[in-house]
Amino acid sequence: MKQKEINSSRMPVYRDAGFELFNAELTAEAFRLETEHNRKPENYIYSRYRNPTVVSAEEEIMKLEGCNWALLTQSGMSAIDTAVSIFQKGLETRPWLFFSEIYGGSISFVESILRKRRGLDIHYFMPVDSTYNLKELEKVIISLKPELIYIESVSNPMLIVSDVPSIVRIAKKHGCKVILDNTFATPFLYKPLNDGVDIVIHSVTKYLSGHGNISAGVICGNDDKLMRSAIEYRKFIGHMISPDDAYRLETQIRTFHLRFIRQCENASALSKILDSHHAVNKVWYPGMASHETHSIARKLFRNKGYGGMITFDLAGKNKSEKGRRRDKFISLVAEQIKLIPTLGDPHTILMPVESVWGAKYPEPGMIRLSVGFEDFEILQDTVAKALDKLK
Ligand SMILES: *Cc1c(COP(=O)(O)O)cnc(C)c1O
Repeated sequence: MKQKEINSSRMPVYRDAGFELFNAELTAEAFRLETEHNRKPENYIYSRYRNPTVVSAEEEIMKLEGCNWALLTQSGMSAIDTAVSIFQKGLETRPWLFFSEIYGGSISFVESILRKRRGLDIHYFMPVDSTYNLKELEKVIISLKPELIYIESVSNPMLIVSDVPSIVRIAKKHGCKVILDNTFATPFLYKPLNDGVDIVIHSVTKYLSGHGNISAGVICGNDDKLMRSAIEYRKFIGHMISPDDAYRLETQIRTFHLRFIRQCENASALSKILDSHHAVNKVWYPGMASHETHSIARKLFRNKGYGGMITFDLAGKNKSEKGRRRDKFISLVAEQIKLIPTLGDPHTILMPVESVWGAKYPEPGMIRLSVGFEDFEILQDTVAKALDKLK
């Protein structure tokens, strides 16, 4: 029995490695239409190229980002690899400019793969006083003439919000392409393609799948030429997501808005509790007026929310007292808030900043929270009680 004979409203999981093509004519058509949107259900060839369950999940992401193309990959990292590789032209490749505060795994990829193994000419652009200086950026672009600029909408762990429309304007003026990692903002808060960003990527492992149980990434765009190049890269390098993960993702994406709205609300409320507590020295949350990039966040996110991430620093006389208090806080909340190195999970989870970003932020009192969508009363109670006990 064939799936189309069943009155199911959902795309099932197609685990076929290769699809039946029946005759030479259909085979030729399938290969001819391989990178087109107007292929038919009988045009599937091989699951590493394209798979109906994966396409169905990609269509959900296209609706979220409001774009013509979305390509799912096995991880955020493979989405990043695919996105940058669109612009690699062998020995002809012009320099690439990466903003310095991007995800640590992305920096490691840039250093150990792009620079060390592929020999690309890599440069970084640093923030000054917790924001990116756009006049300085234009100077750097004029002297470096980069092919591409790589940015994140919200940085990690200091939650610097990038002035994406201004960055894109400067980049376009000087003929650079822009890739943006939108994992922290999500398409709910911000849709960068509307501001002229060329390629948007997400670690779907985080908010889009939202349950800490799928590893996936996605590349979104509207430019047919760039996206066809991405399809080719994903196919030949084998970055395709599995149909089983795509199926679970499609189910979980249906609750994305509900989950993320609640994560933003919980984070906003928790940031105020942290900020007003005497055991806390400082709080970084883009929704707070005191955050260095609050005004950019207001402009970009149009008051819809400020994300689910908070970083805070515990008060203490010196580094060793702060470190002791951090360890005590982590053990006091452990029943409810676990130390898990990811983000966007259903429950609030935490990471000690110094253990991960110690080279940049050697602050023993700093903790990064990924705020979940659990009952806020439980969260508030857990955090307030633990802070009260810090001495
Ligand atoms: C986690 C993360 C990635 C990497 O994604 P994986 O799914 O772990 O491969 C990339 N960018 C950001 C901002 C992330 O948080």
